[in-house]
Amino acid sequence: MQDQTQAGQDALSAYFFQIADGAKTQAADPFYDLFSIIRQVMAAAALVLDSVAGTCESPVPECGSGCSFCCHSRIHVMPLEVVVICSYVHNHFSPKAMQGLKTRIRTNLSYTRGCSLTQRVAVKDQTPCIFLNHHTCSIYDQRPFICRTWNSLSRQDCETAFISGNQNAEIPCLSAPNYVYTLARDVVQAVCKTMHLETGRFELVSAMDRCLGMKDAPSAWTGGCTVFGRSGGDESREKTEKNSGKEER
Ligand code: SF4
Repeated sequence: MQDQTQAGQDALSAYFFQIADGAKTQAADPFYDLFSIIRQVMAAAALVLDSVAGTCESPVPECGSGCSFCCHSRIHVMPLEVVVICSYVHNHFSPKAMQGLKTRIRTNLSYTRGCSLTQRVAVKDQTPCIFLNHHTCSIYDQRPFICRTWNSLSRQDCETAFISGNQNAEIPCLSAPNYVYTLARDVVQAVCKTMHLETGRFELVSAMDRCLGMKDAPSAWTGGCTVFGRSGGDESREKTEKNSGKEER
């Protein structure tokens, strides 16, 4: 059984590597290669999940627009995800929206910088995700892998965990999105490594602060520079990737 599970995992990883290789050979510009790789692997993961949903009867998550309890957690992302988001906000946010984003980053960091997890949980009401706008994700199509893994079969349980601040609450969820998107993300990270690009996992707010504070950080990172190394690479406290009320993911 263990062997079968491993074989399935290897096959899915191989499939994602194949998608990434295909995307890599399609574009001549390394900058767009990388964007294309992450987008195509994300799209492939979504298709895999669609086909899984089409072949078996499974409950439907209660997640939807207007529900944002999980968007008050601390998010960890890989550099390529930050670079993609950074390019997106530069190209799509109005000057006013950009100013608002920078203000939210400053506010968030003023509440959370140097704080323990318990201290962060205590101020989670004041520290929603910097991309949350009226309970809606303002970068939804560009949201990181980790946001795609999360789902909940009980909005009520999310609300209860949020109100109580119970970091250990177990939220009923589908395991497939977690499994598939985590594998997909690991493949993208591995591809970045083979291209000698900075990898790792960084706290989103600090990483965005770093990226927006640098002149053309996306080009610097794509060119092989270390951009995020000092922006909060607190990987020692690993985020959880299964759905629970834990405040880190
Ligand atoms: S990036 Fe979007 S989906 Fe992810 S936590 Fe922030 S608002 Fe929520």
